[in-house]
Amino acid sequence: VENDGNLPEDEQEYAFDISRPSIARVYDATLGGKDNFAVDREGAAMIAKYVPKIREASQDNRLGLAKGVRYVARQGIDQFLDIGAGLPTMQNTHQVAQAVNPNAKVCYVDNDPIVLSHGRALLADDESTVIATADLRDPPSILGHPDVRKAIDFDRPVGLMVVGLMMHFHPAENPGQWIGALLDACPSGSYLHITDFANTGFPEQEAMEKSCIQALGNGWMRTPEEIEAHFQGLPLVAPGIEYPTRWFPEEPDRELIPVEDLEEHQRIIMMGVARKP
Ligand code: SAM
Repeated sequence: VENDGNLPEDEQEYAFDISRPSIARVYDATLGGKDNFAVDREGAAMIAKYVPKIREASQDNRLGLAKGVRYVARQGIDQFLDIGAGLPTMQNTHQVAQAVNPNAKVCYVDNDPIVLSHGRALLADDESTVIATADLRDPPSILGHPDVRKAIDFDRPVGLMVVGLMMHFHPAENPGQWIGALLDACPSGSYLHITDFANTGFPEQEAMEKSCIQALGNGWMRTPEEIEAHFQGLPLVAPGIEYPTRWFPEEPDRELIPVEDLEEHQRIIMMGVARKP
């Protein structure tokens, strides 16, 4: 549904603007998905000019998503609140979580209405999966959403996910406050899982930032310290903030590929997981 401003109120949540690229659709285009428009494919092509392996970089973020979800599910978490869910693709959060625990529930949240319409179409029969339109920058819109409240029992530990969106798409605002409000609603034993654009001094990271700002108007990289700050002081699961290819919390003795030997697209994203004591 194209949003021409004249839609009845009850259809507004499904309306989306196809005159400008959206993060969700450009990301879908970089992953080779079909839920995007010409304007989004142009955005993805612009990014690819600077980051030729943008598809692999997006896949690397998905690796960070899957590794974090699998780890958190193995710690016994059976309900996930996935904020900035994105469009359905391969290895979605519920598929990864349910491979560990078939009873796991996932509540997807995104502020882009296309995620709701496409997500509902794909997941309509799945009672263990819910999708809601709400915004990270407005935690009460998430915590007070009737579908979120129905899906997530905030008296039991939650797997809170802010994967592939938090800082890098929100520059001058205050992600710490939003995360703090969400964490306050989650009981002890909950987990927080974040991935973000990394800034550790490699030129491909700068290329990613430059291309995203050109294509989308945002997409800032952050140092590992800046990423860690968004965990609000929660103790990070070892190995802390790390590239997805090198993040093996359950294998502390594993021999890792040295950072200098990683491929460029494996140094765009860093991830971390923390547990609320
Ligand atoms: N989490 C998925 C992943 O990592 O593969 C999708 C990441 S995609 C790059 C970022 C998603 O975050 C998009 O679907 C976008 O619509 C959503 N998003 C951006 N800002 C948001 C906000 N303030 N609140 C909720 N969702 C947001």
